[in-house]
Amino acid sequence: MAYVIKDACISCGACEPECPVNAISAGDSIYVIEAASCIDCGACANVCPVDAPQPE
Ligand code: SF4
Ligand code: SF4
Repeated sequence: MAYVIKDACISCGACEPECPVNAISAGDSIYVIEAASCIDCGACANVCPVDAPQPE
């Protein structure tokens, strides 16, 4: 299991510093989560203004 950032992402960057395992980075069009590193803590979803990170 890992969180995935959906297309609703507006690339605000708020989630990146919140991730305890540094799994989030800016992608080509939206921010992306490295699935192998994500520990499903939900911190990114808690700060996202558009609910883009979703548990898969
Ligand atoms: Fe990082 Fe937690 Fe979001 Fe996974 S759920 S990307 S570990 S902040
Ligand atoms: Fe995208 Fe939400 Fe992260 Fe902002 S906080 S970069 S909108 S996923």
